[in-house]
Amino acid sequence: MRIPDSIIDEIRSASDIVDVIAQYVPLKKRGKNYTGLCPFHQEKTPSFSVSADKQMFYCFGCGKGGNVYTFVMEHDKVSFVEAARTLAKRAGIAVPEDSPEDNAQATENEKLYTACRIAAEQFARNLLDSVEGKLALEYFRHRGFSQETIARFGLGYSLNAWDGLARYVERSKLDPGSFERAGLIMKREDGSAYDRFRGRAMFPIFSPSGRIVAFGARKMRDDDPLGKYINSPETPIYDKSRNLYGLFQAREAIRAQEFAILVEGYADLISVYQSGSENVVASSGTALTEEQIRLVGRYTRAVTLVYDADSAGSKATLRGVDLVIEGGLDVRVVQLPAEEDPDSFVRKQGGTEFKKLLEGAVSFIDFKASFFRDQGLLATPEGKTKAVRSIVETLARMKDELKRTFFLKSVAEKYDIYESVLFRELERILGKESARTRFEPGRDQASAAKADVANPPPRSPLPPAAEQDLLRVMLEHKGEAISFIFSNLTIEHFTHPLSRAALAIILAQPDDSWDPTVLLDRVEDPGLKSYLAGLLTARYEISKNWAVMGSEPDEADPKKIAEDAILRLKIQELDRKIDEMYRRLKAAEAHGESVALYQQEVVSLQKEKLALHGKKLS
Ligand SMILES: [Zn+2]
Repeated sequence: MRIPDSIIDEIRSASDIVDVIAQYVPLKKRGKNYTGLCPFHQEKTPSFSVSADKQMFYCFGCGKGGNVYTFVMEHDKVSFVEAARTLAKRAGIAVPEDSPEDNAQATENEKLYTACRIAAEQFARNLLDSVEGKLALEYFRHRGFSQETIARFGLGYSLNAWDGLARYVERSKLDPGSFERAGLIMKREDGSAYDRFRGRAMFPIFSPSGRIVAFGARKMRDDDPLGKYINSPETPIYDKSRNLYGLFQAREAIRAQEFAILVEGYADLISVYQSGSENVVASSGTALTEEQIRLVGRYTRAVTLVYDADSAGSKATLRGVDLVIEGGLDVRVVQLPAEEDPDSFVRKQGGTEFKKLLEGAVSFIDFKASFFRDQGLLATPEGKTKAVRSIVETLARMKDELKRTFFLKSVAEKYDIYESVLFRELERILGKESARTRFEPGRDQASAAKADVANPPPRSPLPPAAEQDLLRVMLEHKGEAISFIFSNLTIEHFTHPLSRAALAIILAQPDDSWDPTVLLDRVEDPGLKSYLAGLLTARYEISKNWAVMGSEPDEADPKKIAEDAILRLKIQELDRKIDEMYRRLKAAEAHGESVALYQQEVVSLQKEKLALHGKKLS
């Protein structure tokens, strides 16, 4: 399982952090760095910064930071080795195959990924090579899926036998336990294994980083007693509420188009994708969840819902609108002609017509209005009240107050209602809402977790700016800077525990051959890791405290930065001593003792301090 250091280094140098992170987070260039919305906490203004120079990222909002490995580990929730493999795959670098004893140490997740990959390969083979696979192939062809599309989405077929996959696992001497835990095979009471998916068209479900984690399976035979679609159960690698079908394939297009199309089904997604609108994801296998909205929010701030044109589809749209708005994204709705779903529409009308529909997508207010009109509600005052109230309820979910006000204005105009009346209604709903969250301790975990994301716990205060400056200079200029700094200061001048911990690591390096980025991988404490990454990434943001000394030093001159910080630390030390003398002086006074000595001491310390200021000014 261990990957040789040389390969770890090779992977690192082949994985530009800006390229890698840009696959997950839309980044904009700002000065030397790139910024974007942090994928680790919810925010509306970007505080997430990526440095191409340093190959580091850092978030000023939640304090997460690190190098390209840290990013993949945190983002995909995987081990270092898994992160290295993901990056190696992306960079086309071969990682040596695991030896059997290494395999024994492979993380549980890695085994499940492998089981899913092997199963997908088997299903793909069945589709093309087996006689019964023709049935599924026909089904896909009937849907208009091209060979390329079938390959891109890894489509396949599970044999209509009880032991198609189970026997393959046994024959190939694979570990049946990992296939069982991946939800692919099941055990009878007598211990024998059988397949979960039998005689079905198989849709592999990919994680956002492109690994197969589960399957959706569509019924192919009338005598199949199970539902039209069945899915993998949830496993350690598959949480259906946190996965969006097609996201892996759609990511680039979503970023480029700056919005995501959201559909419901596997077939809908693939048809829409193939028709040329590749920025499409599906909530397949589950009703849309807030985690899925958060997931898509990493790539874009706008979602267009395209659900079936039936009452179930409309209800799903209403719910989707509320969820997207609650997630802080913009939402629009496409209304398909009666009786159509995205798949049927694209097949009949083609991709160009579908794109026209997208362009004509309406705001959620218009969608709700037409929904209530279709139900005949807008004809009576009571119905109108109900409709408007429902719209205001949706508005109440909007977290951006300014945006909410604009929408409220447009509702007022549309329905010819006083804005103040709507505003009072909104306040009433918001008041009820906050009372509910305050007084109901039995809230579900998801919304509790959401509250945590919205209000991250306060961070412990960072070390004083001067300490940070010195650490930064040491990280950048190593030995030369270190000997200069410690010819003027002692370790005791650094007061903050984080500074001390960082120093301990820096001073433990035997020579100057260390790379700050590599150093990070050796730090285990996540707080310290983030702190170091922050120092390396955020070079211009850290020193806000120059005012202490008057003029701002020249950023380009590390020696000047160090000198300045040394002075500040010395002055701080003198301040501490002066405070201490005053404390003793007061105590002596209280006891009726002589204070002359302390007074003398204070005067001399103050002189010393003045001299330091003078040194700076000269
Ligand atoms: Zn953050």
